[in-house]
Amino acid sequence: MGRDQLFIDGRWVESASGKFLPVVNPSTGDVIGRIAAGGATDIDLAVTAARHAFETVWSSMAALERGRLLSRLGLLILDRLEELAQLEAADTGKPMKLARNDIRVTARYFEYYGGAADKIHGDTIPFLPGYQVIVLREPRGVTGHIIPWNYPASMFGRTLGAALAAGNTAILKPAEEASLSCLRFTELAEEVGFPAGVINVVTGLGEEAGAALSSHPGIDFLSFTGSPEVGTLVQTAAAKNHVPCVLELGGKSPQIVFADADQDKACEVIIGAIVQNAGQTCSAGSRVLIERAIYEPFMQKLAERMATVRVGFPEQDFECGPVINQVQRDRVMAFLERASTDKVEVVAQGKIHPDASKAGYFVPPTLFGLVPREHELAREEVFGPVLAALPFDDEDDVLRIANGTDYGLIAGVWTRDGGRQMRMAKGIRAGQIYINGYGAGGGIELPFGGFRKSGHGREKGFEALREYTVAKTVVIDHSS
Ligand code: NAD
Repeated sequence: MGRDQLFIDGRWVESASGKFLPVVNPSTGDVIGRIAAGGATDIDLAVTAARHAFETVWSSMAALERGRLLSRLGLLILDRLEELAQLEAADTGKPMKLARNDIRVTARYFEYYGGAADKIHGDTIPFLPGYQVIVLREPRGVTGHIIPWNYPASMFGRTLGAALAAGNTAILKPAEEASLSCLRFTELAEEVGFPAGVINVVTGLGEEAGAALSSHPGIDFLSFTGSPEVGTLVQTAAAKNHVPCVLELGGKSPQIVFADADQDKACEVIIGAIVQNAGQTCSAGSRVLIERAIYEPFMQKLAERMATVRVGFPEQDFECGPVINQVQRDRVMAFLERASTDKVEVVAQGKIHPDASKAGYFVPPTLFGLVPREHELAREEVFGPVLAALPFDDEDDVLRIANGTDYGLIAGVWTRDGGRQMRMAKGIRAGQIYINGYGAGGGIELPFGGFRKSGHGREKGFEALREYTVAKTVVIDHSS
């Protein structure tokens, strides 16, 4: 299953090493294919190709034409929805419903940024008499993109859609755990007719292909989505070449429930926001902070709902699938075991289907109650379907807890009080705040990114186009 070559300069080629990495289906543990193990030599070729394409064809192409190619790719992806969703489900273990949604989101990115390509305007600035000042927004040039395994399809659209629309060329390094959909999208891009060298894809290990890309002196900009630890390595490598980066890292996002909230609606959304993609979502709502006055009754609701969550194979289409691999399973189970040693109370768990529990990397979705504020479950990213509940006293108290981790990615606030909605929105340090709702990974139009250990820079929406362009100021003296 899948394609075991790299895509460089418009051609499918073997990796220089001639080596391969296995593709494992997380639902069964079976090897279902292989991908090429790219490395420094391949990255070097890809950077050269991207530079050539940038200078000769892509940055000078009419924005309208660039946009049309992106939009056509979006439509072609939609045409192949079912095939792509099955590929993504086999590669990541996602329930089919979520896989289909991810493919639709990928298509939407290309349609959105296709439409935006000819709307990236510069600016004029009032200056001294006799002068005209124009601020051009120019593409950065050759952009590197390193993405994780949790949403490979939509990450492909998110990061490449904006970069290409702005006139950059790209080298993508997908995650070694899940590269298949990225390779298939690249075949579709070839079909649509992107010029050679505009999109280059080098699969392979992070410490080989990823490290070679992030330390390459020939790139002009780097987009990294992944763990904070690797984000530090990548940013350090890029800094040595003065290459700027956008970093989209982890989160420990709170959902805050005040006593006046619509509790039924909140309960449904809160459980959905942690079991979606088996909790492997950077913006998963992994902490629920509950006003003390309603702590017991609201926990009762959450517990009843969590107990209804079923975990199984993609085609069973339950709410939750497996985690990506054995390493991730061991990591999540270790959090559960340490919590048990620390006597943190398990309030409810979802159920793994008996067939599923025999193979694959399944973990039980778990709700913990009265989690101590300093406990790792209240502070660390588990990246699994694990929800930590904590009571709070008042607005000041909840802001302390909400802002009290190293992260600041997104937050949800459930209250009908308008003044409080605004105070919370201003008080929480996170890139997105949802009032009476929550969008784990949603909303391609909405600028997205972190504070602190959650990263910096913004992707999605028009804000991403600012990241992928650079301002150039032209000062014209027309007085004589
Ligand atoms: P990871 O950091 O292990 O890997 C991400 C990518 O980096 C992969 O392509 C990997 O091959 C590559 N990589 C690994 N080592 C490298 C190195 N030394 N140099 C260069 N590249 C290297 O992350 P992961 O486990 O794939 O993903 C999970 C993490 O990603 C979580 O922390 C999650 O919160 C975060 N994430 C963030 C967002 C966001 O938008 N903020 C979205 C999805 C995931």
